[in-house]
Amino acid sequence: MWFFTDEHRLLEKSVRDFAQSVLGPRIEHLDETEQTDKSYFKKMADLGLLGITAPEEYGGTRMGCVAATIAMEEIGAVDASTALSDLAHSYLTVNNIATNASEAQKQKYLPKMISGDWIGGMGMTEPGAGSDALAMRTRAVKKGDKYILNGTKMFITNAIIGDVFYVYARTGDGRKDISTFIVESKFPGFKMGKKLKKMGMRASPTGELIFENCEVPDENLVGGENQAVGHMLKNLDIERITISGISLGIARASLEVAVKYAKERHQFGKPIADFQMIQAMLADGQAEYEAARFYTYGSAQMWDEGKLTGSSSRALSAKVKLVAARMATKVALDAIQILGGYGYIKEFPVERYMRDAKLMEIGAGSNEMMRVIAARDMLGDL
Ligand SMILES: Cc1cc2nc3c(=O)[nH]c(=O)nc-3n(C[C@H](O)[C@H](O)[C@H](O)COP(=O)(O)OP(=O)(O)OC[C@H]3O[C@@H](n4cnc5c(N)ncnc54)[C@H](O)[C@@H]3O)c2cc1C
Repeated sequence: MWFFTDEHRLLEKSVRDFAQSVLGPRIEHLDETEQTDKSYFKKMADLGLLGITAPEEYGGTRMGCVAATIAMEEIGAVDASTALSDLAHSYLTVNNIATNASEAQKQKYLPKMISGDWIGGMGMTEPGAGSDALAMRTRAVKKGDKYILNGTKMFITNAIIGDVFYVYARTGDGRKDISTFIVESKFPGFKMGKKLKKMGMRASPTGELIFENCEVPDENLVGGENQAVGHMLKNLDIERITISGISLGIARASLEVAVKYAKERHQFGKPIADFQMIQAMLADGQAEYEAARFYTYGSAQMWDEGKLTGSSSRALSAKVKLVAARMATKVALDAIQILGGYGYIKEFPVERYMRDAKLMEIGAGSNEMMRVIAARDMLGDL
């Protein structure tokens, strides 16, 4: 991007080198065996990736949204699973704590999370409450100097391996009577549920969090009671823009494989790159990738300049996520088409790219919910 600073370019290069040399060689195996290697959090911490949006006094680098999106694109281009786990840790959890928590909570949790000693995740979705997150049933009841949590969270990234979760729970009967708690996995009554087997993002663990009379000290309530919706709104923009970086990475990787293959593969006595129908898929994919890239980084730059405020910014980040996610799935599917039978087998990575890309259309708010937000904004109803 023309507006990247020298610092951004340096970050881009160092994350790209790290992703290609460290993450690349082991992702096929982890994807195949559906394993996670959490030691890579330490390696990402060494590069300063776990606190890109957090203040320096807690170990962060406070580089902002453009930098965070660069990290997501570069990791996503090689290993979208690790990008997703990093997103859940760094933006859904660390950034939430940095934005909303008390000084004591920040001092207790951020340094250990930014150094990669503790892995974080965010628990909002429940078995019966996904898109309609405010219908959640997990409940926190105050008893003495503790809150007692009961309920189940579903589809939580970094479950199984996580040490600290930023958990949403109901503290009243009104729809918006929801609070956030920092819950350590060693608290009494906290249980990891089953690890979920997935189509894509297979090296990023997804699972349930179960709270059975889970005892959370009242000092771990973030802000006050019933403030979660306000907290959530503060971070939605950066979460949806940074996750779009993963979509960009997957699309870029898909195009790189497709271009190389189209030049090497011969049919009818010439490279398939000479066929205009193949060229059309390549050209459309590149144009759509670049359009999504301008949109994503342009919005990230607006975020860094403090220009994303109010309901229209919520619609902007929703549209960015929608455009980038749809683009990634389409580009990855076309890459499979360009590789023909070889695109469908595991010898080439494009089938993994497509499986990973599909999650971008569901996680952190589905395409349909992004459209709901965009349309409401257009109709003056957001
Ligand atoms: C791999 C993975 C990782 C995840 N990580 C996390 C995490 O770390 N933390 C967390 O809290 N959650 C996480 N999620 C959950 C994710 O955010 C939800 O799956 C998502 O919000 C959709 O909710 P749902 O799956 O319950 O689908 P539902 O809400 O049941 O939706 C089903 C379908 O109905 C559509 N739909 C629903 N409402 C409407 C409407 N009003 N208009 C039109 N269509 C509608 C949806 O778009 C979808 O197509 C993760 C999910 C996955 C798969």
